[in-house]
Amino acid sequence: MSDPLFSVRGLASGYGDVQILWDIDIDVPEGEITCIVGSNGAGKTTLLNTIAGLVPATAGQILFQGTDITRAKPHEVLGAGIALVPEGRRLFKGLSVRDNLLLGAYLRREPAKVIEQEIDFICSIFPILKERHNQDATTLSGGEQQMCAIGRGIMSRPKLLMIDELSLGLAPRAVDRLCDALTEINKLGISVLLVEQDVMTAFDLAEHAFVVETGRIRISGRTDDLSDNADIRQAYFGF
Ligand code: ATP
Repeated sequence: MSDPLFSVRGLASGYGDVQILWDIDIDVPEGEITCIVGSNGAGKTTLLNTIAGLVPATAGQILFQGTDITRAKPHEVLGAGIALVPEGRRLFKGLSVRDNLLLGAYLRREPAKVIEQEIDFICSIFPILKERHNQDATTLSGGEQQMCAIGRGIMSRPKLLMIDELSLGLAPRAVDRLCDALTEINKLGISVLLVEQDVMTAFDLAEHAFVVETGRIRISGRTDDLSDNADIRQAYFGF
């Protein structure tokens, strides 16, 4: 395994008095796609939101390129190079595809020309976004909305892109298209931390996996090794 770009050690968090995550350890190797899988309510979204600074950590450490970002605010996490594509896309109604994309670059201070090049780059990965530039982003199809949400995430030029539920509610063809794009994005040097309920989709994409159950990591390893092991498959994945 290459050096971890990002690590979580002994992380705990929750909402008010209710603890959701317990003693979470995760490593994300630089340049790879890593996935977190688990059933409904396991705590996957809470984990990504804790990393993003949206839910406060109550114990443990979050390290990004060796820097402690455990108490960083959401804009500081983004500024450090970690972008979140949230569950349900969360595109802004009443704003065009282009304006939704531009919002992803709000921390960037480069000239407009550089930001335009970034939009062109995203449209080269997702050509449909160019065709739909002026359309209200919330009127796109589900798959197109996910493209726009991923594009918005890339607009900040992150080193780590976190995606919460890539495939949720999408048709198989749309999922295939998104998986191809994610592989392309990863090859350009953006590491990915993917949360997925669909284990098959996650394992096709990722080199390493962490399985979350009731707020704890139950098992982790290379996706090839996990899916080759019949006992693990049966106990955790049901295939
Ligand atoms: P899903 O795949 O269904 O989205 P998940 O693995 O992402 O599930 P979370 O959304 O992190 O799981 O939820 C974990 C637990 O935290 C659940 O019991 C949920 O009810 C609770 N929870 C999530 N958000 C909040 C919140 N804002 N306030 C209180 N409890 C919450």
